[in-house]
Amino acid sequence: MIARDQALAALHADAFDVVVIGGGITGAGVALDAASRGYSVALVEQADFASGTSSRSSKLVHGGLRYLQHFDLGLVREALLERQLMVQLAPHLVRPLPLVVPAFEGQRLDRLVGVGLNLYDVMSVDRLRGRRRRAEDEDEELRAWAPERHRIIDGDEVVERLPALAARRPTSGYLFYDCQTDDSRLVLTVLAEAERFGAVCANRLEVTELVEDAGRACGVRVLDHESGERFDLRAENVVNATGVWADRLRPEELHDEAEVPRIAPSRGTHITVSSELLPLRDGAIVPAGEGRSIFALPWLGATLIGTTDNDYTEGDLDHIRPADSDIAYLLHATNAFFASSLTPADLSGAFAGVRPLISTGDPKKSVDISRKAELYETSSGMITITGGKLTTWRRMARMAVDRLVERDAREAPCRTHEIPLGQRVDAAELPRVEGVPQDAYERLAGRYGHVARDVLAIAAERGELAQPIIDDGPPDLLAETVHGARTEQARTVGDALLRRTRLGLLAARAVSEPQVARRVARAMAPELGWDDARMEAEARSFLDEAAAEGIVADGAPAAYSS
Ligand SMILES: Cc1cc2nc3c(=O)[nH]c(=O)nc-3n(C[C@H](O)[C@H](O)[C@H](O)COP(=O)(O)OP(=O)(O)OC[C@H]3O[C@@H](n4cnc5c(N)ncnc54)[C@H](O)[C@@H]3O)c2cc1C
Repeated sequence: MIARDQALAALHADAFDVVVIGGGITGAGVALDAASRGYSVALVEQADFASGTSSRSSKLVHGGLRYLQHFDLGLVREALLERQLMVQLAPHLVRPLPLVVPAFEGQRLDRLVGVGLNLYDVMSVDRLRGRRRRAEDEDEELRAWAPERHRIIDGDEVVERLPALAARRPTSGYLFYDCQTDDSRLVLTVLAEAERFGAVCANRLEVTELVEDAGRACGVRVLDHESGERFDLRAENVVNATGVWADRLRPEELHDEAEVPRIAPSRGTHITVSSELLPLRDGAIVPAGEGRSIFALPWLGATLIGTTDNDYTEGDLDHIRPADSDIAYLLHATNAFFASSLTPADLSGAFAGVRPLISTGDPKKSVDISRKAELYETSSGMITITGGKLTTWRRMARMAVDRLVERDAREAPCRTHEIPLGQRVDAAELPRVEGVPQDAYERLAGRYGHVARDVLAIAAERGELAQPIIDDGPPDLLAETVHGARTEQARTVGDALLRRTRLGLLAARAVSEPQVARRVARAMAPELGWDDARMEAEARSFLDEAAAEGIVADGAPAAYSS
């Protein structure tokens, strides 16, 4: 991505066709879609890219088996088709993940789950066959992944796939497929593609109000959180892609005129544990009582467990802490299922995010309809796009940009279904750099695709940059923090540890050690012009951020009450 000061200069100087507010997956998608249809696009994000809900998801690119229970067939099918496309467009970043629903002695496999899985197969496979036929002459890569049909596996295979379950001696299980990604990396990848089509993106720019001419939006007033400066960004069209913040920008306009239902945020908490404590090769569906279930998933070398779904009424959307009661709920379900005895002290991280649910006033119903994307056009001409899922970002973006195209009476069809997101690279073909641990190459290839070469070039610049950020920890390199600062607008230690790498989620205790925060600040300092005092202040500020985010679950085990 272009450097932030260059982006700022362009945002000051130029007038744009479209300004997108919000740098989560929806805003990034709108920027890519609009730019690739020939619009000049600016995107502004108030904090860091993906710092909202888009770095706090379960990381699944999926149809959502549980929505079948509510007969949301259209939603599931749409998401399954997107899943298929994402694996083709970003094969390094969106990867197939087998999932298992186990059964134990004296239990039978739940036939209803089998019926649901049949439907799931049919909804993705039908289209796939068509795709296969059409794709016959296409590149091998475009036919890369085809989900197999679900099947029943025996107890031994369940244990092979879910070693953590060995003590419980499962007797059989359903095996099916979904896909998994790294959510904040997906956002950064989509933004980078948007920039290739000319979009100008900058973080730490908050939109405080719309700029209007005769009642029509003709830009936005922006507050630069780094300099404190305010300026007007001129744009013919304004797209509000601010997720759970969507009704904060123009509350009266949205609620009164468009009858936008109030956004009722719902908190979802995840925890992580090392894969030694809970080893999984594939994902598991874990019952969590009262007909609910959670996921236990292998992710970036650790185990990711989540999620909860509770009304969030605390109001602060900037730092959403996992509640102790949510952590207790997840541990209770995990321990009951795997016969483990994990406590908060065993956790390698915890994080929470809020879903932008659309409230209907009926608390039960609001959860069911929530994942639908909604688009509103209000009297100022602002287009608000909210709801949806990480998986369906491309469709949401298309919906918003189709509206712009229609309004302008232009001929400009959506192209994002054929725009690759980054470029896959074979880890074995990456150049070897002295000091870089062997397991880092696979991680780099999966995270950056071809751009991993640039990260390795940075690692070769100075010996210490080839080292992992954490001694004896995951293989994420110090070079990645420099790469983040140099080419992805990482502006703080938190940006590097929470969203460029994911160490804040997977090694929260280690990164909360002052010496690790200092090491990262020292690596980033030459890129960002920090002197010694600033380095110390930045390291400290990350420790404050980590505490505010509650990434280290250090509370005593909270009592779990169902
Ligand atoms: C716990 C949980 C688990 C989930 N798991 C999955 C999953 O596994 N798979 C899936 O498909 N979906 C999942 N989702 C849903 C998915 O994460 C969200 O639908 C998606 O990330 C929303 O993206 P967004 O861009 O609309 O919002 P956000 O990512 O929140 O982006 C909005 C951005 O707007 C910025 N902003 C706000 N106000 C302003 C302003 N005034 N000026 C400038 N910028 C502003 C914010 O800082 C923020 O970065 C999950 C959600 C949660 C909460």
